[in-house]
Amino acid sequence: MNARIQTLLAIAALAPSALAAQTWPRTVAERSNYDSTSTTAQVGAFLDSLQIAGAPVAVTTIGRSAEGRPLYLAIASDPAVTSPAEAAASGRLVVYLQGNIHAGEVEGKEAVLILLRELATTRRELLDRLVVLAVPDYNPDGNDAFGPVAVNRGEQNGPVVVGQRADALNLDLNRDYLKAEAPETRASLARIYDTWDPALMVDLHTTDGTRHGYLLTYAPPLEPIGPAGPTNYVRDQMLPALQRTLTERYHEPLFVYGDVDDQMQPASWDTYAPLGWYGTNYVGLRGRMAILSEAYAHADFKTRVQVSHDFLVEILAYAAAHADEIRRLEREADRQTTLEGAGAVPRPDLAVQYSMVSRGTEPVVLEVMQQSPDTTPRGRHRLAPTGQYRTVRIPVRDRFVDSVSRPLPAGYFVPAGAGDVPRVLRLHGIEVERLEADWTDTVETLGITQLAWQPREFQGHHLLAVTGTTSRVVHTVPAGTWFVPTAQPLGRLVFALLEPEGWGLARWGMLDRLLGSEFGTYSGLVYGSSRVQEFPIWRAVRAPLAPMRVVQGASGED
Ligand SMILES: [Zn+2]
Repeated sequence: MNARIQTLLAIAALAPSALAAQTWPRTVAERSNYDSTSTTAQVGAFLDSLQIAGAPVAVTTIGRSAEGRPLYLAIASDPAVTSPAEAAASGRLVVYLQGNIHAGEVEGKEAVLILLRELATTRRELLDRLVVLAVPDYNPDGNDAFGPVAVNRGEQNGPVVVGQRADALNLDLNRDYLKAEAPETRASLARIYDTWDPALMVDLHTTDGTRHGYLLTYAPPLEPIGPAGPTNYVRDQMLPALQRTLTERYHEPLFVYGDVDDQMQPASWDTYAPLGWYGTNYVGLRGRMAILSEAYAHADFKTRVQVSHDFLVEILAYAAAHADEIRRLEREADRQTTLEGAGAVPRPDLAVQYSMVSRGTEPVVLEVMQQSPDTTPRGRHRLAPTGQYRTVRIPVRDRFVDSVSRPLPAGYFVPAGAGDVPRVLRLHGIEVERLEADWTDTVETLGITQLAWQPREFQGHHLLAVTGTTSRVVHTVPAGTWFVPTAQPLGRLVFALLEPEGWGLARWGMLDRLLGSEFGTYSGLVYGSSRVQEFPIWRAVRAPLAPMRVVQGASGED
């Protein structure tokens, strides 16, 4: 064989894979040897390159940020689907992956981009059972507000320059899910949750500093108001299986998300607040499955991208293998929630206050810390890491139970003048009706005994705690009042948003104007005296029989 033919044969043998390998784009993180992370424009360019190279990925947007940056949505599907209706008709399970909600926490964004490329190549079989939606850069304004990692993410080990936590309106998007003030939240409610209704959502983060021995920690939805079936499945089946797989097959130690109060003498390993303000808890309120993923801030950037990626791969593999079971549990949750609201099965008591409880005492791996000669401004010795690890046996407090609860009503009457409340309910995809005539019936009202506003602003609001006593009274509900039934698949979310003593819209001040309050301060808290005696939202004992019209119109973003 002469040399020319030999060369031709060698090229022929190499051609398909070698050429293909050169065609697929590489991420900024890969190209920079994990020195850098992508800008929003680079995320868009990478997704476009994937699509042009022939990946089964459609690139679109769900809206724009406050500063006008695109919120890119990649739809990975084979054969292609481009709408929720097509996805439903295909019988495949819709999974939603979200990166960069806290935009300094960048490895989720990079891991999602790599995974999207693999869905075109080595992991294409995952698309046999799944449609994968991905918003890799959910907070593009925060992402592009680049600064030194030491400034924007003090506890984080690289990359050199990262974005900021908040969005351009200075909102923490992971506290915004119920009040939905941020354009990013509104876009995702309208263009992801209300439309695609993903069966499983994964929210990708980086931890904030606790020195422990795990590369990644995770949590299921924690909000006990949500339907139990989907949440318990994530907590008790899916996550333990994923933990075993990652530890045994990848040698990446994982554990349930937590924190210790005292690194030297830890008393317990505690998760975070269960409220629906947080994305994965919010998804649980909707009766869908969700996983919080927190890569370990002290691991280097490349390691964090790798472990986030591996976790995502195994989550998708698990979802694909259990698609029918996941779908069955969620349909059952929808059915059960609707029946409860209708009173066809007993109405549950649901939490307005919570207690964190332990699943048991377990070994927890923590880094050994020592007191350094440095002192804090308060004169305490700073703790320095040693690179050594120890195992302590402490209670693992990874869940919540109700400490104060209220029965789920048949619905809520919201007065005609309740400002933005009906609009926000529609944005969540909740069915809202409107009374066309007066209706007289027994309703439950809350006689206000105290209104207490937090003196310090949080996310631009003085949070309001309402206390009162409930009584059953005969009232005429005037025509024009909104009625929000709990007999709908989102009935538990209705409770979370509207129960006066809960953590929903009243807490965020959305009824302050109706309360006509006058503020005064006492003992550090701001107390209001209300000119109304009764809280303006009433609980329905039964659905009204008056003529009502269903509020039409897209839940749509604005
Ligand atoms: Zn975060």
